[in-house]
Amino acid sequence: MRAVVAYAPHDLRLEERPEEVEPDEGQVLVRIAAGGICGSDLHYYHNGGFGTVRLKEPMILGHEASAVVAAVGKGVEGLATGDLVAINPSMPCGQCEECQRGLRNHCNDMVFRGSAMRFPHAQGLFRETMIVRSDLLHPVGRGVAAGLAALAEPFAVCLHAVKQAGSVLGKTVLVFGCGPIGCLTIAAARLAGARRVIACDVVEAPLATGERLGADEVVLNDPEAGGLSPYKAGRGRIDVAFDCSGHPAAVASAIDCLRPRGILVAVGLSGSMPFPLPFVVTKELTVVGSFRFDTEFAEAVDLIGSGRIDLSPLISHTYSVDRVIEAFDLAGDRSQSMKVQIDFR
Ligand code: ZN
Repeated sequence: MRAVVAYAPHDLRLEERPEEVEPDEGQVLVRIAAGGICGSDLHYYHNGGFGTVRLKEPMILGHEASAVVAAVGKGVEGLATGDLVAINPSMPCGQCEECQRGLRNHCNDMVFRGSAMRFPHAQGLFRETMIVRSDLLHPVGRGVAAGLAALAEPFAVCLHAVKQAGSVLGKTVLVFGCGPIGCLTIAAARLAGARRVIACDVVEAPLATGERLGADEVVLNDPEAGGLSPYKAGRGRIDVAFDCSGHPAAVASAIDCLRPRGILVAVGLSGSMPFPLPFVVTKELTVVGSFRFDTEFAEAVDLIGSGRIDLSPLISHTYSVDRVIEAFDLAGDRSQSMKVQIDFR
């Protein structure tokens, strides 16, 4: 069984690992089908981590994946050999204070696949086969492409972000950053009934994908071009802004564009940054964070599996696992790629 293992910055290896073959009670053996490369995977690849999170031992990357059921253990119901499933990478403990409060995405003892936040690291999903607890597997339904099923995880992040805004029904929404999370936030805001969705990025290439996923208008965030000026007019024209870039300039623009009593949802992670707090005061803005997801994973699977939403424009490239390094190099180039996926079959 081969796995994609990060050792150190720019030391990513496709290596042979022992294969587990017999699922125990409540477990399922799966063959990974598609795996999407996310920003955090790229941080491990390029920098060996992000913020204070560092690789301290080799780690299998990946937390966005779909798989095909190969064998089910005793007591597993609702899953059969051959089923396509999305794998939930999030394993809250269910016992701690935050889990007991219903905030399982804030679990004190979270195990999240492909993350070096705890030690030993939680090994990820970029491997040919693995054994998984059956409750983490969500059947996607017949005829759905494996690549679309692997978008359940990032889409869950964005469904959660839109929920953090309260209702966006009938509202004018501005999304900063048209990477995969920005584009999926556009799709999620449309589904939630936003009246108008405007997508904004500092780079031209990703804006086209934002449009294909439902943006009514795309704006290049270039101060000289002044594309956002209509939305900064008066005291601002935007009801809800999502920052999916983590960039200080985007946050400053968002605060300029928001109407009094508007809402800023911070989705993108960044280092510390200057923050225009005086305008939060004088415009009575609400600023809310959004981190990971909980029940939204099942909702994402249902929306994708039922065909209620077509996220296929997001997937720009699919590489065989044999070419995983090429896939990682391309995924880091925003001018060339959007969501790059690895095909493990
Ligand atoms: Zn917990």
